[in-house]
Amino acid sequence: MKQKHVALLKALLEAPSPTGCEMAAANIVRSHLAPIADEIATDSMGSVQVRLNGSDREAVPAVMLAAHMDEIGLMVTYISDDGFLSVSAVGGVDAAILPGMRMDVHTQSKTLRGVVGRKPIHLIDADERKTVTPLDKMVIDLGLPADEVKKLVRIGDEITFGVGFEEFGADMAVSRAFDDKCGVWVAMRVMEKLAKGKRGSKGAAGGAGAAKSSRVQGRANKGDFIIAATTQEEIGTRGAMTSAYSVCPDVAIAFDVTHATDYPGIEKTKYGNIVCGGGPVIARGPNINPVVFDLLVAAAEREGIPYQIEAEPGVTGTDARAIQVTRGGIPCGLISVPLRYMHTPTEVVCLSDLNNAVRLIARFVSDLDENACFVPGIVSTSSDFQEKDVINMTETSKQQVQEKHDKAYEQATKDGMVAAGERGLDASAGAEKEALAMDDVTTVYEPAAEALEKTEIDGIGKEV
Ligand SMILES: [Zn+2]
Repeated sequence: MKQKHVALLKALLEAPSPTGCEMAAANIVRSHLAPIADEIATDSMGSVQVRLNGSDREAVPAVMLAAHMDEIGLMVTYISDDGFLSVSAVGGVDAAILPGMRMDVHTQSKTLRGVVGRKPIHLIDADERKTVTPLDKMVIDLGLPADEVKKLVRIGDEITFGVGFEEFGADMAVSRAFDDKCGVWVAMRVMEKLAKGKRGSKGAAGGAGAAKSSRVQGRANKGDFIIAATTQEEIGTRGAMTSAYSVCPDVAIAFDVTHATDYPGIEKTKYGNIVCGGGPVIARGPNINPVVFDLLVAAAEREGIPYQIEAEPGVTGTDARAIQVTRGGIPCGLISVPLRYMHTPTEVVCLSDLNNAVRLIARFVSDLDENACFVPGIVSTSSDFQEKDVINMTETSKQQVQEKHDKAYEQATKDGMVAAGERGLDASAGAEKEALAMDDVTTVYEPAAEALEKTEIDGIGKEV
């Protein structure tokens, strides 16, 4: 993976974005994509929707790619007289992994280092050694006098694991919060790739560059491509509900992490065979539109990348859960990256899986055309009945999208929230202002922010 892409991934992972406080990650999404996006909007849930207009947007289905920005964490519930913090879990936190951890406590004014203390083994009774201390019996030690703690910390402040991103082994990386900020990274990279294809196709006037242009043209989006960087997935896919409703795409893909089963102790007979480095995982089951599944597999085959198939017999615990049943139903696929040790501070992924996921999705989006129909059982558009049916469906949803789009744009323009393209400068200024506001909170992560700044943010990077 190229260094500038690694820098973006690191910046996203290390931007604190516990559920309900995703602003730091949202700010990266907005500022990074502002140079290439046609429209950027942020809703009252904090989810960010970034649109890249298609070259044939009236006829070809609009695709929404959703990935959630929030990460699991803790929340301060009580401050003891001597200044220790009691906490509750935000999302699925395993109490067994907490003792001995360093944590970041995000207060209004700054981020504080905290540690989850654990009695020394010498002082623990033999019986107690065998049990996991429940979360409500743990405390976070800030190393500060009680009056200082009470001045700085408020009930409801959120806490993240105090660890960041690191490459290790053979093409592997470890970090907190790969779930699902690696998905946000994938979404951003797909948009960069498609934008580059779009730029390439505009310049395709023949001559020496024609062959190259036709190649990149193959990665441009004919229909609109919208990224939904969603919030609050970890407490019930809540940002996806509102994003899917407001974006109202013709088809959607949710991107998340899934359990790799390639390390000792995981039963393959129960959980399947999912391998880090084996390529992106395409889910199959009732939560997944079967046509979208087939098209994703076809895209992987055409692109010549490795891929894996995962059985999802029920409702998935991803944004696909909400998207599929929004409005009158939105055809939705689910792609995941294999991940070891989910919801721990040491989540592990293989970087080539992320790059291949970018290629897979870019291919799926650019291969979509006006004949796409996602109604199960009505795949071909050859008969009159089906053709009429499909056209009506497409026309209706297109009209809905256009109306909603116009209204949202008008409102967002009023709010000064929108817009690369026509109002690019305003959007960057807004993002900059927010970046300043976040300064204190992100102090700990300055090295990552600097690395990102140094990265050449041309937004239209080379192929991964
Ligand atoms: Zn999760």
